[in-house]
Amino acid sequence: MLLFGALLTHICAVAKMFEKKPLPYGKVENAGIPSDYNGSTSINAKVIDPLFTDHSFSNGLIVATVPTRHNNQPSDPDGHSEWLLVHGATKAKVFNFPGYPRPCAKPRRSNMIELKQTPDTGMAVFATCDIKVGDLIFSERPLLVTPRAVFPPARLNLSGYSKEKVTQTIMFEYEKILEHVVSRMSPERRAALLALCNSHTEDGSGKIMGIIRTNGFSISNIGDGPNMPLGHLYPPERSYSGLSDLGSRFNHSCIPNVTISFKRSSFSFQFSASRDIKAGEECFVSYCDIFQSATDRKKELAPYGFECKCKACLHATPATDKLRIEYQDKVARLVHTHGPWVLDTTKRHFDELIEFEKEVVKEGLHSQKMYRFVVGIIGHWYEKYHLYTKAKPYLDLEERWKTMASDEE
Ligand SMILES: [Zn+2]
Repeated sequence: MLLFGALLTHICAVAKMFEKKPLPYGKVENAGIPSDYNGSTSINAKVIDPLFTDHSFSNGLIVATVPTRHNNQPSDPDGHSEWLLVHGATKAKVFNFPGYPRPCAKPRRSNMIELKQTPDTGMAVFATCDIKVGDLIFSERPLLVTPRAVFPPARLNLSGYSKEKVTQTIMFEYEKILEHVVSRMSPERRAALLALCNSHTEDGSGKIMGIIRTNGFSISNIGDGPNMPLGHLYPPERSYSGLSDLGSRFNHSCIPNVTISFKRSSFSFQFSASRDIKAGEECFVSYCDIFQSATDRKKELAPYGFECKCKACLHATPATDKLRIEYQDKVARLVHTHGPWVLDTTKRHFDELIEFEKEVVKEGLHSQKMYRFVVGIIGHWYEKYHLYTKAKPYLDLEERWKTMASDEE
């Protein structure tokens, strides 16, 4: 049994009264629809585009299959995602993306991981071989992609209800849309989705919403409305969340060794090693923002119903909290003041940087994308003084991170 899935984001209600308010979790008193609610809203799904068999709902949401499934043609070997969209134009952003629809990228060898039962965290993912930082472990087309915000099927008349009752009713109604979306999936993919872990069984989430809230990975390079400038991600209320079957098996750590990216050209998640992983080692992703104090991480992880026992949480100190909280700003400042184009980085500054890098590795933050800037500056500094042997491992690391973090797909 899998105990913990992998959600990287909150789902927030964006019905007018609940904009950006996170949904309830844990044991909620009076969860479910209020006793005097008739629960009669129909989702009214209509075919809007027979060529693509897209359906629209009365609230304007659209569901599409990606890549398009054509009658009398075999299914895509990488599978099809069902995608619940807020704007049809967002689908066009993917369909017009250079190279779409590419097959999912394949790792250098298959079966780099296996699922094994553990005594205290249920099923977990373990490496079957040594994996190098930057290696693709596997890629997978999501089973289901949904907006990160919740949209009920229609304008609901909920006057006179308390805020809690309105939230419960919206969640109940939204589940009807999700049921329709899931009914479009192949029997195998639907069964895989419904078998995923659900840690939201007592807060009023329907089964599918509970599974999304437990396991959804954020997809922030696809979003509604105007395109974001290069290198910027869409804000949560305009972006999406995807369910990965195998990816949902990763447990959480605040020192993860696996990083996730979403590739638009193949409409797939890629799971890559964010540091070297030894054969037999457990593989982890992070379910929360790891650049916060241990106390705040604990709060963010509460909806999953477990307490993180990773080394960083067990041995957290005010100094490690400070390092995490300030890490991103500090790296941004380093890039600004000590970038390779700055010729007067002094030896003293450089020694401080080496010390900082040691702390970062000790705290496990070298598994985060920004680490490439730290190693890049060190590598280029050594290179500038012709210390090529010393420069090489840092520059190699920078290169591997650049490839992993690339948003060109
Ligand atoms: Zn932890």
